[in-house]
Amino acid sequence: MTSSFSNLSLAEPLARAVADMGYETMTPIQEQAIPVVLQGKDVMGAAQTGTGKTAAFALPLLQRMMKHENASTSPARHPVRALVLLPTRELADQVAQQVKLYAKYTNLRSAVVFGGMDMKPQTLELKKGVEVLVATPGRLLDHIEAKNAVLNQVEYVVLDEADRMLDIGFLPDLQRILSYLPKQRITLLFSATFSPEIKRLASSYLQDPVTIEVARSNATASTVEQHFYSVGADDKRRALHQILKARGMKQAFVFVNSKLGCARLARSLEREGLKTTALHGDKSQDERLKALDAFKKGEVDLLVCTDVAARGLDIKDVPAVFNFDVPFNAEDYVHRIGRTGRAGASGLAVSFVASSDQRLVADIEKLIKTKIELEPMEFDEDKPRISEQGRINDGRRMYREGGDAEPGRAPATNRAHAPAELRERREPRERREYTPHRQPAASRDPFFDLPYEASVAADSQPAWDSAAKASPARSGVSANIKPKKKVAALFKVSEQ
Ligand code: AMP
Repeated sequence: MTSSFSNLSLAEPLARAVADMGYETMTPIQEQAIPVVLQGKDVMGAAQTGTGKTAAFALPLLQRMMKHENASTSPARHPVRALVLLPTRELADQVAQQVKLYAKYTNLRSAVVFGGMDMKPQTLELKKGVEVLVATPGRLLDHIEAKNAVLNQVEYVVLDEADRMLDIGFLPDLQRILSYLPKQRITLLFSATFSPEIKRLASSYLQDPVTIEVARSNATASTVEQHFYSVGADDKRRALHQILKARGMKQAFVFVNSKLGCARLARSLEREGLKTTALHGDKSQDERLKALDAFKKGEVDLLVCTDVAARGLDIKDVPAVFNFDVPFNAEDYVHRIGRTGRAGASGLAVSFVASSDQRLVADIEKLIKTKIELEPMEFDEDKPRISEQGRINDGRRMYREGGDAEPGRAPATNRAHAPAELRERREPRERREYTPHRQPAASRDPFFDLPYEASVAADSQPAWDSAAKASPARSGVSANIKPKKKVAALFKVSEQ
């Protein structure tokens, strides 16, 4: 049963802000987390992207901070009381914007600091005093070391997208930041996926946390229709054009694995007449924000991006996500396709699988615990090409071979609505099940020929144990004092 925000007895300024947002009922994560946070308990929350988790932590924290609300201009009356840490600049920016909206009728101040931007304006804002500070770890450490940010009155810490922070290698920074905070505090940890590493992080830094899991971890949104097309590298662009045309798609995210590939693909698609913009780690912060903004405003059709853009970015109504490259990391698949089918809308996720990607597809199959099937596909042109089409065989797909739409599907995903060329291709042909282990893939890296294993075995030593021993709290000049290098390094980790 979903309940209304009015049941929460939020302070009037917060309730008014929620009403302005147009929210009526709480999402499942909000329904479960808000009362727990209001009671002052630690939370370990597993929630998919797009589930409303920002409001799930921001609203109860703002509510608890209302007792400190004051209109004084003195910075001393506005110490940092809540710290929200996120792994990427875009996420930090997005969360900060939402916090500002929820707090807009209160006197509680919020600010965001992240790398790649001039420190001066951030410093000025910090010096004026802010109650809620949203930050990426590296830049926050720079401000701590420059004595711009004082964290000794922090009462609440949110570690959002915690798994990603560990992936990026933020653990030492995270440990250092946490060492500056009062021991007595409330800690909320959110992660889309709960690896053993994350569980151990939680057990180190959370006290008796309430575990909240609104969806099976590593699950993909049930509203996303997933297809796997086996397409040769040279045919991928043609396949993309064909699917976009056949589906009458207006906008889509197209994910690639490398920055170079991202820029090249965006240029090719642009030449082929699609309004395209590229988003990757070599773009300046300003360019990245502009690219996102152009996509949000509908000025561009395709956002070609690397995994920098995969997590948490909330752009409403992205009808489709294309994995032009199958991600190297199966968990990135979950995050990539989380860009579509948000807030209950239906979405399409298409992956182009080259023959060398079979091991990666097998990893995805294991992670999402869903059988992946292949079926033949033909391009519109006369010249036949050898290619196959795959899809998820979990009863969620849009079309059945030679049959009607599955019961319970939304009309938009009804077979009868399929463009002729897709219907044609969906007629039963000799479909064969995808059997990832039958033909060992010619892998580009021997690593991908290894059997799938979770990133850290449950019983192995957690990464931060060794990291903590190897790199005790830094002393002297901060490594983060060179933000540009830090940021470049950050994105190199996640991009090949
Ligand atoms: P998040 O998972 O926090 O990124 O939120 C995803 C999207 O859902 C954002 O656009 C929010 O504004 C929106 N949202 C959050 N809570 C609700 C709600 N209770 N009702 C409707 N939309 C919501």
